[in-house]
Amino acid sequence: MDLDHTAEEDVFRAEARAWLAAHVPAAPLPSLETEEGFAAHKEWEARLHSDRWSVVSWPKEYGGRGADIFKWLIFEEEYYAAGAPGRVSQNGINLLAPTLFDHATDEQRARVLPSMASGEVVWAQAWSEPEAGSDLASLRSTAVRTEGGWLLSGQKTWSSRASFADRAFGIFRTEQGTAKPHQGLTYLMFDLSAHGVTVRPIGRLDGKPAFAELFLDRVFVPDADVIGEPGAGWKVAMSTAGNERGLTLRSPGRFLAAAGRLTDLWRARADPGDTALRDRVADAVIGARAYRLFTYGNASRFAAGASIGAESSLNKVFWSDYDIALHETALDLLGADAELAQSEWAEGYVFSLAGPIYAGTNEIQRDIIAERLLGLPKGRR
Ligand SMILES: Cc1cc2nc3c(=O)[nH]c(=O)nc-3n(C[C@H](O)[C@H](O)[C@H](O)COP(=O)(O)OP(=O)(O)OC[C@H]3O[C@@H](n4cnc5c(N)ncnc54)[C@H](O)[C@@H]3O)c2cc1C
Repeated sequence: MDLDHTAEEDVFRAEARAWLAAHVPAAPLPSLETEEGFAAHKEWEARLHSDRWSVVSWPKEYGGRGADIFKWLIFEEEYYAAGAPGRVSQNGINLLAPTLFDHATDEQRARVLPSMASGEVVWAQAWSEPEAGSDLASLRSTAVRTEGGWLLSGQKTWSSRASFADRAFGIFRTEQGTAKPHQGLTYLMFDLSAHGVTVRPIGRLDGKPAFAELFLDRVFVPDADVIGEPGAGWKVAMSTAGNERGLTLRSPGRFLAAAGRLTDLWRARADPGDTALRDRVADAVIGARAYRLFTYGNASRFAAGASIGAESSLNKVFWSDYDIALHETALDLLGADAELAQSEWAEGYVFSLAGPIYAGTNEIQRDIIAERLLGLPKGRR
């Protein structure tokens, strides 16, 4: 693996840095978990897209720059270093899009990707159900055959940003009584404004409707919105999950920037005699750099043709535990009242606590690491 950047990559970095310096809003946008903030973030997506910065690694025909995975990593480093807004389109761009590139038809890609790239259509992930989270294959929502398509019924929950989003993607049971629960599932896209869909917002601890429950009552979905083969939805879903955990959801740029801000905080606020805290700041910097190297290693393997496998679980456990440790260090640095203050660190800390839960809980990821990467015996489940 060659970690030196090429001259072309340096030019790309400089171009991204200059664009971000000229365009990142001077004041933070309102929270994207509110109606007002959601609209402001959609405008920001449109701004990014108008100069082809919203999806740099996609082919040009869909609104990207046709950049490779290394340039995408460089862009992400610059994006977070510039303090640019959170991405309201992340479920679409990071989860659905890689799945479409792997499993969809050309027609589906041409129809879905451009409006995702521009932020015009924002996507929600409709996977979890009240009794199907870690054990996703136990899901009970159904898709029943009808003329020209399928009728969806059931309940999904914890769907991030579905309170304001336009469309959703999810997995549905299309065959009953299969030998194994992950057989007979189908991966579909649907409109959140379709007849038969009820979206009920769920408030977070801070009251913002960051999630929603979806109630589906015979919602019609045309055949054109099935991704992959009917009945083979589990395979398609695992491609989404691998991308989410292994690469796209948390790029190292985010943690390099956060470790940089933590170091600044240490310089500004710390008692130099507090060596224990100093060591934790150093650990945060080392962790961010180690994660970056690990990710570049993965990227090199993907560029050489490998696909994301069980090792994506290593990434997921690392970044979620790391995020909590980093924020705890910042709060300890800030002092006793830090958790009460409406600060970026306090909010980041609360959100970091969800990291070991979403994208597959860390208990389950550790089982995958033990069984599939280390070859240890299956746990008692
Ligand atoms: C911030 C956030 C955003 C989310 N966004 C979305 C979204 O957009 N779309 C969506 O569909 N879902 C979303 N989710 C839901 C998320 O995917 C689920 O919460 C997650 O899969 C866990 O499922 P569960 O909540 O049903 O917990 P459970 O599966 O009930 O697990 C509860 C606890 O038991 C443990 N456990 C369960 N089974 C085992 C086992 N076999 N061995 C050891 N331990 C076990 C788990 O690890 C966990 O600690 C989000 C969740 C959060 C926190």
